[in-house]
Amino acid sequence: MISEEEARKEILEAIRPLPARKLSVSKSLDFFAAEDYFARLQLPTFDNSAMDGYAVVATSCKKGQRLRVIGEQPAGIDRKLGISSGEAVRIFTGAPVPRAADAVVMQEDVTRDGDEIVINVDVEAGEFIRRRGCDLSEGQRILAKGERIRAATTALLASQGFAEVTVGGEVKAAILSTGDELVTPGGKLEPGQIYESNSALLNGLLKRCGAVVDFVEHCRDDRESLIEAIGRGIKNHILIISGGVSVGEHDLVKAALRDLGAQIDIWRVAIKPGKPFLFGCVKQRAPSPQSSPSGRERRTRSAGEGSVLGSECLVFGLPGNPVSAFVTFLQFVRPAILKMMGATDLDLPQVPAKLSVDLTNDSDRAHYIRGRVDHGMFTPVGRQESHALFGLSQSNALVRLALGQSLSADEIVQVQIWD
Ligand code: AMP
Ligand code: MG
Repeated sequence: MISEEEARKEILEAIRPLPARKLSVSKSLDFFAAEDYFARLQLPTFDNSAMDGYAVVATSCKKGQRLRVIGEQPAGIDRKLGISSGEAVRIFTGAPVPRAADAVVMQEDVTRDGDEIVINVDVEAGEFIRRRGCDLSEGQRILAKGERIRAATTALLASQGFAEVTVGGEVKAAILSTGDELVTPGGKLEPGQIYESNSALLNGLLKRCGAVVDFVEHCRDDRESLIEAIGRGIKNHILIISGGVSVGEHDLVKAALRDLGAQIDIWRVAIKPGKPFLFGCVKQRAPSPQSSPSGRERRTRSAGEGSVLGSECLVFGLPGNPVSAFVTFLQFVRPAILKMMGATDLDLPQVPAKLSVDLTNDSDRAHYIRGRVDHGMFTPVGRQESHALFGLSQSNALVRLALGQSLSADEIVQVQIWD
């Protein structure tokens, strides 16, 4: 059994980012930038009006002042107008400010009288003018390599005239659940059976970190069936197998992986919940030359080509207990996927929170406590046992207790947030 830190280090060392490619900005949401981007234009690009109203010279604008309207400046065209004291230009939001004008008066603060206006407020220089460059300077970094592209990032790139952005790869993931006792939801439960729920959990977690789930299968605890199912699953960048990695007679995943020639780098990690965690890699089978270039085969091939390790698939064997699968996914699989996609920050977001109770870890493994953070207070939720899915569903955060660590109520700790 190795420590959690060693396991994470070993997994991340085995991973290289997928090749970068260009995407249209509109399709780049939630990918990671593969290079730094810098502003080509200052923002705003020219002084413009923040309101529909009248451009004026502030010094000639006392309340009650009468001004002559000498022209109109709409948005979208620069009429190169200029004004002097005692004059105004009808102006609209986003329109270039006329030369010598240094304020805009909102139309609501003006009474129009033919080709004159009366100003109903005092006016200060600079009012309702958006100065060029006040938001962003030319050359300023707008997106860092490894940063996630968010909705506002796509808008910023678009505002700079970028139609495309170079991003990291997209991870194609397969999910294989195992267990004779499991029934697919919708089916009928016989005594002793339970519904299969880890596929739903893993599908959600994979999507949340940006992976594409291309393959979901369930397999009985039977070595031959496992070998076949794993053989299909490894045609993706990563394969996540749930269950069957422990030490019982029905835990056949390790043996099946060995039969397929897998290299198993990690088995059993000092983490609670989640000890029987497995990490390794398997060579993907080359697609047969006669196979039709349609459907699954075509998808399979591109997944193989895109894989960092050439024709290898990374395999994560997660314990079948839902909470163990959840915790090991977040601590080991998530950072691996993010690294493959080219992310810089591989950690879950952390926030400080005050503990509502004392917490002690007297086990021989790092312990992740599931709980809820609300208004800066962390409270453990539900039974802290690896099968307790309801408690997990009510929680939104994890507190990590190192070996032998004790924390007291009211202490401020760093809490990992996943929702
Ligand atoms: P295993 O790791 O295969 O020994 O499974 C440990 C526990 O998790 C057992 O109680 C299983 O019934 C349960 N389990 C395994 N796989 C799943 C799954 N896909 N959905 C729900 N429970 C599961
Ligand atoms: Mg099992």
